[in-house]
Amino acid sequence: MSDTIITRFPPSPTGYLHVGGARTALFNWLYARKTGGKFILRIEDTDIQRSTQESVNAIFEGLNWLGIDWDAGPFYQTQRFDVYKTYLNQLVNDKKAYYCTCSPETVEAMREKARAEGRNPMYDGSCRHKNLAPQDGAVVRLCTPDTGSTRIDDIIKGPIAIPNTEIDDFILRRSDGVYTYNFAVVIDDLTMDVTHVIRGDDHVSNTPKQILIYEALGAKVPKFGHVPMVLGPDRTRLSKRHGAMGVMEYQKMGFLPEALLNYLVRLGWSYGDQEFFTIEDMKRLFSLESIGRSPGVFDMEKLTALNAEHIQKSTQERLRPLFLEQMQALCIPHDPQDPRLNAIITLLQPRSKTLVDMAQQAESFFVAPSAYCEVASKKNFKAESLDVLKKIREKLTKTEDTSEAAMEALLHSVCEEMGLKLGKVGGPLRVALTGKGFSPGMGEMLALLGKERTLPRLDAAIAHLEAKG
Ligand code: GLU
Repeated sequence: MSDTIITRFPPSPTGYLHVGGARTALFNWLYARKTGGKFILRIEDTDIQRSTQESVNAIFEGLNWLGIDWDAGPFYQTQRFDVYKTYLNQLVNDKKAYYCTCSPETVEAMREKARAEGRNPMYDGSCRHKNLAPQDGAVVRLCTPDTGSTRIDDIIKGPIAIPNTEIDDFILRRSDGVYTYNFAVVIDDLTMDVTHVIRGDDHVSNTPKQILIYEALGAKVPKFGHVPMVLGPDRTRLSKRHGAMGVMEYQKMGFLPEALLNYLVRLGWSYGDQEFFTIEDMKRLFSLESIGRSPGVFDMEKLTALNAEHIQKSTQERLRPLFLEQMQALCIPHDPQDPRLNAIITLLQPRSKTLVDMAQQAESFFVAPSAYCEVASKKNFKAESLDVLKKIREKLTKTEDTSEAAMEALLHSVCEEMGLKLGKVGGPLRVALTGKGFSPGMGEMLALLGKERTLPRLDAAIAHLEAKG
C-alpha cells in the first residue's frame, strides 16, 4: 500500500449540510489537499427511514458552493451491502462474531439488571458460545475482549484508553439485515484505504468499538482525530435554535464561500494569530497538529467582519458574477451589461459587509428612490435645501465634465456661493439621489449616476420639497 493520505467525509443524508459538517469536510479536504492525498465522499444512507434524496442533493449543493471537491465517490452505503456481507461472514467464520437470537425484551432486561447493579447497561454475551447457525431475524454481534483496554491515539485529544469491560458485544448487523453504522463505517474506511479519520468528537465513543472491529479483522487501524464541537453563542452545541445552520443559508445572506471557509477553519484550527486566509493559504498551511482541543463558539459578528474583509480583497472577476446573482435574487432592477458595473463594485467593495448589503447599496445606481426615508429626510431636508438642490441642478445642466473631481468641485462651489458647510449640500443631495441617509460620497455618486439619472431625481426632490412647502 502506498503512503498516500486518504481522508473522507461521510455525511448521513438526513438534512442539509450544516456548518459543523462543513467544517469537518473542510478539515479532511484541506488535509488531503495539503499532503497531495485523496479526499473521499461517502453517503451514509443506511438509516433508510431518515435518509432522503433531497438531503443528498443538499449536501452536494453545499459542498459545491463551498468549492470542496472530492477525488472519489460519492459512494452510497446502501449499495455496498455485498462488501459488508463478505467481511461479516469472515468474522463469523473466524468466530470473532456470532449470531444472537435474544429478543429486544431479553436484552433490555439484561441492561436493566446491569443498571440495578450499578454497572453500565450492556448485553451480557448470552449467545456468544451458542454457535448459532446463520439465520434470518437474528442479529450479528462482535465478540469483544473481556479484559484489557482499547487505546485511541487521538491526533487531537491525545491518548485515550477505554477498559474493554465497558464495551459489550455490540451489533454489527441488525435483525432486519441492515448493517450498523459502526460496522459499515469500518468496512468502508478499510476497503477505501482511509488513513485518517477526522470527525466530530460526538463520535469518540464509537471509536473503541470501531478499533475492535479492525482488530478482529486483523486490519490496520487508521489514525483518528476527534475535533471539538462547534458551539452556539450560549455555549451549548450549535443547533437550529441558534439560527442559520445550513451552509446555503449563508449564501442567501450574502456570504462568500471563501469567507465562510476561512471562518470555519479558524473555528478549531490556528496558525499563529493569523485570521485572514485565502483558500490557497489554507491548503498550504493547514495541519492536524494545530487543531485545538477546546470547542469553537460560532460568532456571527466575526464571520461578518471576515466576510467584509474577503469582499474588500476580492477581484472584480470573482465578485461580479456573485454580485449579479444577488441583484437577481433580491429582484433589484439592473442591467448586467451596464458599463458602470466594475466601478460600482469597486466603490462598494470597502463599504459592504455582505453581498446582500452590496446589492442593496447598488440599487441607487439603477433605480430612482421611490420614497424618501423619513429619518433621513427629516435630518437633511431643511429650509434651505430646496435652494441647494435647485442650485446643484442649475450648475449640473451647464457642465459637460461629470468626472468625480468635477462633481466635487461643483459641490464645493455651491457651498461657497451659498455660504454653507458641505453637509448642508451633500445631505439633501444624498436623500434626493438615493432616498437614504447613507451612501458613498456625493462626488462618486454623481459621477456614476451621470446627468441623465441625476437630473430627474433632482426634479423629483425639488417637486417633493415644493409640495411640502
Ligand atoms: N455518518 C456519520 C455522521 O454523519 C459519519 C461519522 C464518521 O465520520 O465516521 O456523523
